Amino acid sequence: MAWTYDDANIFARILRGEIPNRTVAETDHTLAFEDIQPQAPVHVLVIPKGRYVSFDHFAAEASDAEIADFHRVAARVCRERGIASDTTEGFRAITNAGAHGVQEVPHYHLHLIGGRPLGRMLAKADA
Ligand code: 5GP
Repeated sequence: MAWTYDDANIFARILRGEIPNRTVAETDHTLAFEDIQPQAPVHVLVIPKGRYVSFDHFAAEASDAEIADFHRVAARVCRERGIASDTTEGFRAITNAGAHGVQEVPHYHLHLIGGRPLGRMLAKADA
């Protein structure tokens, strides 16, 4: 089995500059931008610039440099957006993968969500 990347997905189009985004941070390997439908006062998406479908695809096949950069950018976003867990009330980092995870966009992305109490991770009815 292997992951198949769809170059027509919306985040690929954002990376090609075909669709605008509200950029929060950018490096050679990583882009962070505001979610278009924020679920909380802070809702930033962090994506690798490489063609990775999901968290496990990225974790398995990205280079060490891409993986390190991705997480450093995520930490910087937490700090800069006022949700870092050492100095504030914290946040939730979520990534959805595949149909059971209800992943809508098939380009790996980490949601950084905070700025209000977020409740339990899964509602009991969903568990
Ligand atoms: P998923 O369900 O795949 O984990 O999350 C996809 C996320 O992408 C959703 O939170 C949705 O609001 C966001 N999203 C979808 N299309 C766009 C877009 O064109 N621009 C931005 N900034 N976010 C988007």
